[in-house]
Amino acid sequence: MNNPVTNGIDTTNLPDDKGYFGEFGGAYLPEQLQKVMDDVAKSYEEIVQDPQFLQELSDLRVHYVGRPSPVYHAKRLSDAVGGAQIYLKREDLNHTGAHKINHCIGEVLLARKMGKKKVIAETGAGQHGVALATAAALLGLECDIYMGAVDVRKEAPNVSRMKVLGARVVEVTRGTQTLKDAVDAAFEAYLADPVTQIYCIGSVVGPHPFPMMVRDFQSVIGVEAKKQFREMTGGLPDNIVACVGGGSNAMGIFSAFLDDPVAIYGVEPAGKGLDTDQHAATLTKGSVGILHGFKSFLLQDKDGEPLPVYSIASGLDYPGVGPQHSFLKTIERVNYVTATDREAVEAFYGLSRMEGIIPALESSHAVAYATKLAGSLGKDKSILVNLSGRGDKDIDFVMEHYPLVDYEPDEHCENAYQEFLSHIRVMVG
Ligand SMILES: *Cc1c(COP(=O)(O)O)cnc(C)c1O
Repeated sequence: MNNPVTNGIDTTNLPDDKGYFGEFGGAYLPEQLQKVMDDVAKSYEEIVQDPQFLQELSDLRVHYVGRPSPVYHAKRLSDAVGGAQIYLKREDLNHTGAHKINHCIGEVLLARKMGKKKVIAETGAGQHGVALATAAALLGLECDIYMGAVDVRKEAPNVSRMKVLGARVVEVTRGTQTLKDAVDAAFEAYLADPVTQIYCIGSVVGPHPFPMMVRDFQSVIGVEAKKQFREMTGGLPDNIVACVGGGSNAMGIFSAFLDDPVAIYGVEPAGKGLDTDQHAATLTKGSVGILHGFKSFLLQDKDGEPLPVYSIASGLDYPGVGPQHSFLKTIERVNYVTATDREAVEAFYGLSRMEGIIPALESSHAVAYATKLAGSLGKDKSILVNLSGRGDKDIDFVMEHYPLVDYEPDEHCENAYQEFLSHIRVMVG
């Protein structure tokens, strides 16, 4: 294949059968866990060819998740920016309010097919925990969610949601009592009993086959969006933008467009600035290493230990990134860019006020970059943003830390959107 948009590199049929996307991915595991992962990979290969499984997944997408999620032309926002037309793929309208339910239902269906009684996972802010607990309740499996004690205190509403949904929240009190310790505890629990339970990873990360499997379950986003966009406009979007934490919502939309003449942007969290140590811009600032059983770009110290990372959006706060993203960066198919906390908060308010849509702070990073990009392009160009989740979970935090007051219009701004934002800048100093 000699497709110029992929620089002549074949991006189809990846990963290879060992789980590699170029040099990235694979499975770096103790022997005992390797056998378990081989089992998962084999079962996955079987179910994706099983018409009954595919029908059940498809029915649940329609009748339970509420798919297809719409594509919406954000006209007021586009007009205010005065450049390219911005479209939103509304994953925020899914049951549970984000894209994570797409792969959690797939993973729990696989678990049931493999005869597992229980699904387990770690969670940081609790979003993956809630999505998995939801899918487990739906399909009648037990669910254990490992969560650092610090996070349990910080994220009380999500802890309650998981408990109401019937999950057992296992409080991890070792180490820093946060996400990394929760991952360690969940892995140990899995090793202790890999027969009756299965570990359900929350993004396109971890050892093979998870980066492939989670991408496949999320790829419904891009498949739908491509068809919907074509029906609305008669063509392809010129640009696609998604935020990147582990990278699942981004791979979900990117995967349908990799071979098309479409510019693709993955937006990483620049936190308080790329020149500080308070960000989680893995592809922008990281180096290649191994973490949690796979090879990818990482934010790591000189001994290969993951660095503490930070973002205003807890869902983007991860020192690694899915191996396919590392591959797409290396072959220069996808542009990895960043947005700061402040830009994300501005976009959070911007989209809320101009369209009546409150985006998750994670998704706000994508919106922020899209408005910047739109301003640099003509009105005949288009940008399709994956709006990965809704922002109800973030409103109290934003109102407390970034309050917004009414303002007098400022005449010195380039466009109505900049004018709106100029007042938020004043507010946060
Ligand atoms: C978890 C989460 C993300 C980040 O995860 P990815 O795997 O990078 O998609 C982004 N947006 C929302 C709303 C999330 O809940």
